[in-house]
Amino acid sequence: MDRIDLRSDTVTLPSLEMRRAIAEAPAGDDQYGEDPSINRLQERVATLLGKEAALFVPSGTMANQVALQVLTRRGEDVIVGAESHIVWHEAGASGANAGVQFTVVGQGGLFTAQDFESAVKARGHHVFPATSAVVIENTHNRGGGVIFPQMDVAAICEAARKKGISSYLDGARIFNAAAATNASLADLAQPFDMVSVALSKGLGCPVGSLVAGRAADIANAVRARRRFGGAMRQAGIVAAAGLYALDHNMARLPEDHANARALAGKLAGAKGVIIDMATVQTNIVIFRTAATAPDAATVVAKARDQGVWVSPFAQRTVRATAHLDVTREQCVRAGEILARIVAGG
Ligand SMILES: *Cc1c(COP(=O)(O)O)cnc(C)c1O
Repeated sequence: MDRIDLRSDTVTLPSLEMRRAIAEAPAGDDQYGEDPSINRLQERVATLLGKEAALFVPSGTMANQVALQVLTRRGEDVIVGAESHIVWHEAGASGANAGVQFTVVGQGGLFTAQDFESAVKARGHHVFPATSAVVIENTHNRGGGVIFPQMDVAAICEAARKKGISSYLDGARIFNAAAATNASLADLAQPFDMVSVALSKGLGCPVGSLVAGRAADIANAVRARRRFGGAMRQAGIVAAAGLYALDHNMARLPEDHANARALAGKLAGAKGVIIDMATVQTNIVIFRTAATAPDAATVVAKARDQGVWVSPFAQRTVRATAHLDVTREQCVRAGEILARIVAGG
């Protein structure tokens, strides 16, 4: 059966053209700073983000963990939005590696400067854990791919800077936020001390993320990456995929957003489906099922029988994600199938 795989935007396969770029990539030992493809990618991403330097890492999780190593110390406090990737999807890495605790604020992944300020714990207090960083996820995955309003970003990062608190953008899907808002990547990244981007989500690469920021912070990030065992050698063959994707897969992201809206449109109003169309801003569709409708596990299993693969996100929450390997027609069909299943058909 024709499989429509909407579990994640990470399921994309490298295209023939991307594989050709990989095959032809110049390479060298990146531990000696001698991989020309890695160097080009790092310089290009730093420029795109308006930062002094960038560092290639194997995954978005390592990007987040490297950032925490650079910006925090053990026993400190990090303020994050609800249901953030760094809290939910990293197997407890932040506690295990950086030894930080999280204070979760706001709703649906978003929060305001007021939420942030109310949660800050002052450094030097005899019992409070010092708040040393604030993390913003944009777009916010579990929030439904929502875009973090840039006014709030600016206000939060400004408030943080005044208190000597570092700001970090988990920008695994910042390319989607830029595509949806027509803001430049540099503008979206500007308020932050450190920023990460993922190549393996909407851009369709097989592997890779980057962290970017001040040159001194990235020098520390190089050591943190090494400590995690994430330093690589002739990594130019994967950097080549990133360079290819920046040229060919960034401009097409609005297509994914339109496809996600088309899918969500088939769910909106269907019996038993609870969906807030206001959250369908990019390539992610998150919906819930009513108490009288099948639960997420049932919906996921029944949909798979009909060729539609989606992710259970909570007991009654399902995620479908548009990406470069699914067409508009497939997304519409998936929306119809999911709507029918939830309605009990
Ligand atoms: C996917 C994702 C990551 C982690 O990326 P991996 O490459 O899977 O480790 C980090 N943050 C967000 C918001 C993500 O969606």
